Parts: sequence; C-alpha cells; structure tokens
Amino acid sequence: MLTLTFLGVGSAFSKRNHHSNALIEIWSTSPDKQSGPDDTLLLDFGSVGPIAIDQLKNKPGFEYLNRGGIVDYNKIRNIFVSHQHADHIGGLEELAFMNVFVLSNGNTEDAFKPRIISSMNILVNLWDTSLKGGMSPLPGRYALLQDYFYILALRSTASGYEPFQLGGRYKFEIFPTDHIRIERKYDWPSYGVCFTDTETGESVFFSGDTRFDFESYEPMMTKAKLCFHDTQLSGDTASVHALLSELRTMPDEVKKRTLCYHYGDAWDDPEFSFVNDEFAGFAQPHERYVLFD
Ligand SMILES: [Zn+2]
Ligand SMILES: [Zn+2]
Repeated sequence: MLTLTFLGVGSAFSKRNHHSNALIEIWSTSPDKQSGPDDTLLLDFGSVGPIAIDQLKNKPGFEYLNRGGIVDYNKIRNIFVSHQHADHIGGLEELAFMNVFVLSNGNTEDAFKPRIISSMNILVNLWDTSLKGGMSPLPGRYALLQDYFYILALRSTASGYEPFQLGGRYKFEIFPTDHIRIERKYDWPSYGVCFTDTETGESVFFSGDTRFDFESYEPMMTKAKLCFHDTQLSGDTASVHALLSELRTMPDEVKKRTLCYHYGDAWDDPEFSFVNDEFAGFAQPHERYVLFD
C-alpha cells in the first residue's frame, strides 16, 4: 500500500495552512496492521515543515514519528526536492541538524542520513545557493551535502528523467513544470511527480508548483486515477501558479479526479464552494490518502 499525507496544503504565503509538503508512506500490509511504514518519502520540506510534522506526530496513526516528544527524523528515509523555493526546502537544515546533533546519541559522525532525490541541477543549486550558508560549517570542519544525505541525482534521458522506485513496486517519475520562466519555459528547474503502481499499472499525478499547462500534463492527468494540482484561488495569468479559473477549463472527468492543493487562505470563502462539486475538492492536511492499496 502507498499512502500520501499532506503536512500542509497552503501556498507559500499561507498562514492558516502549512506549506504544501507531503509524506508518502509505503506499507507491506496497511497502517492499521503495522506500527510504522516500511519506507517513507517526503515530497519537499518547507520552512514551516518542521512545525507541521511536529503536529502530525501527535495524530493517531503517526505515533511512529514521535521519539520522546520530538520528531524522530530518522524515520524520514527519503526526501524529494521539487524546486528551491523556501516553502519546499526551508525545513531541510533543521531536518539534517536534528539527525546529526539531536538524534545521533552524541555520535555525530555516525548520524542517520536520509536519501535526497532530485535532478542534478536542483541538487547542485540546492547546496550552493540555498543550504551551504547554514550547513557547511560544522565544529572543526566544513561539510558537504553528502555529509547529511545520501544523494540520488536522477539522470536525464532522451524521454525525461530516470525514475526511482520505493517498496520494489512503486515507481516515481519526475517531469519538468512551467513554474517560473527566466527567458523560456523550463529554464528554471522545477518538477512534478507521477507515481505508478507497477503491479496494477495505476498512476497518480502530483503537479508540483506550476502554471496552468494542461496541454503538457493531459496525457498523465487523463490516465491517472487521482490528480493533485497546484491551485491559486484568484489572480491573473501573470501568476507563477495555476489559477482556479484556468483549472476549471479542464474536462469534467479530469476535474472530478483532481484534488486542489497549494491554495491560499481564502479557500473557505463561499465564492469557492463550487470546488467541492466541480473538482474532487480541496486536499486536506493530515489526512492519509490511500493512493494504491
Ligand atoms: Zn510552493
Ligand atoms: Zn514555487
């Protein structure tokens, strides 16, 4: 079984929801039969991610994340980084420092290292232009990204990026998203993910941060049993996110299978009540969605 739980479902500026980061869990049986999952993957970990996961550890079914009242980051075995905005990476320093300084039982050289996964261009920039300032200095030496993480850089191929797998059965394929253009489409790296259960062929689409680009995502979204799509409630087409008004132009049968996430704080205003009828609704934080059973 593969489940997805949002730590938060909010936009970068949300104050009522945490950032749109998600915990993927792999189960050989199911959450009610196991004390914890076989494997885990964080889809991004933004600046308020540590607060969100601290709250999640106190929820029924997530006790395995609780070690004596603090988050047991050793239980986070993989982290996928979709792009470098702080609402997606701002919690990584805390996660790494917790593993090295707090959860290592004083043996910092032997601290638990999760695997960090993304394209090569994201990983190089992630260290050089985001994490290095705070994470390079350690007592007595300078550290590198590989001092905190095992690195899985997904190689680009003729048809996209080499997929990675979890649980021997679940395949994760990343695709570029049209989030921010410097000069042209895809020139600033950002990614979404398509999950596939290789035993059944079922798939789930997760947009990542993106402008509306149904033309590019249509083959994946039409095939997927469920879609999660970046959603900006209002604004104009100069936005770097998909406007709800644009998402409404997708075919009904796609909308019915689409949960909106990465939304602003006005989601419960009556003007957006149509979302629950027209779409699968607004994705909810701290709810464990079964993607593949
Ligand atoms: Zn974002
Ligand atoms: Zn972004």
